Amino acid sequence: MRIWAVSNQKGGVGKTTTVVTLGGILASRGYRTLLIDLDPHGSLTSYFRKNPDQIDVSVYNLFQDAIAKKSLLPGPYIASTDFEGLSVLPASTAIATVERQGGAGGMGLVIANSLAAVRKQYDFVLIDSPPMLGVLMVNALAACEHLFIPVLSEFLALKGLERMLHTLEMIGKSRKTRLDYTVVPTLFDRRTRASIQTLRVMRERYGDQVWDSVIPVDTQVREASDAGIPLSYYMPKAKAVIAYTELLEHMLSQNRSRSVEPALATA
Ligand code: ADP
Ligand code: MG
Repeated sequence: MRIWAVSNQKGGVGKTTTVVTLGGILASRGYRTLLIDLDPHGSLTSYFRKNPDQIDVSVYNLFQDAIAKKSLLPGPYIASTDFEGLSVLPASTAIATVERQGGAGGMGLVIANSLAAVRKQYDFVLIDSPPMLGVLMVNALAACEHLFIPVLSEFLALKGLERMLHTLEMIGKSRKTRLDYTVVPTLFDRRTRASIQTLRVMRERYGDQVWDSVIPVDTQVREASDAGIPLSYYMPKAKAVIAYTELLEHMLSQNRSRSVEPALATA
């Protein structure tokens, strides 16, 4: 099982889109894929037509189990989706209280520890993280082996990236292994100078940590989201699907030695 998180201390940069789109591509290739929503806004949860204000079981239950010192078994809280091989551990807006209660009693490893129980059930786990540093983001960063940091292709976004990398440095100290990350330029519009300049500065400053391609602006992203269908199923040839597929290939080729074979028959 491989666990990736998508995080940035800024909203609206394409975190949820990255999780849903990569997840859809992985599932359609036959990988058993689990998406975890750790954002109290519950956008990932809403994407799959579940209401984070009303949902009965969610990732919130895991945090409650942790407080009650019960064993951490996410199975009963995971829901299937309409897409074969794609499951979701949804968020309830109640997880905002986890954030408010702060890091009381080592709550930072709830997700990491609970994923151990489903290690054989999934090939990939993708975690959508909230846009603020707190217990939930710490859970995402502690559980993953690789992090994607989507960054808008506009100049102001570079400040946010700096802040995120600072956070990683702080959190990195409490991890056993270094956390690898990839900066993913998102909502790239080749017609604007801002996009092109931001990309250039990003590559100058962060070099190899920046993925060498970009996720373009693609109106189909919004349409797929409105339809509640991962983009790769909604419009397999969409520009953004092609770009996210490239990103996935890049990741899979980097770690050939630890490659995971699809467990489901590919459709
Ligand atoms: P975050 O999770 O970081 O808040 P989202 O993934 O929800 O960001 O994206 C923010 C908004 O931008 C959403 O309305 C989404 O549909 C849109 N969006 C994301 N990626 C793209 C893209 N590549 N092209 C066009 N719109 C996009
Ligand atoms: Mg989001």
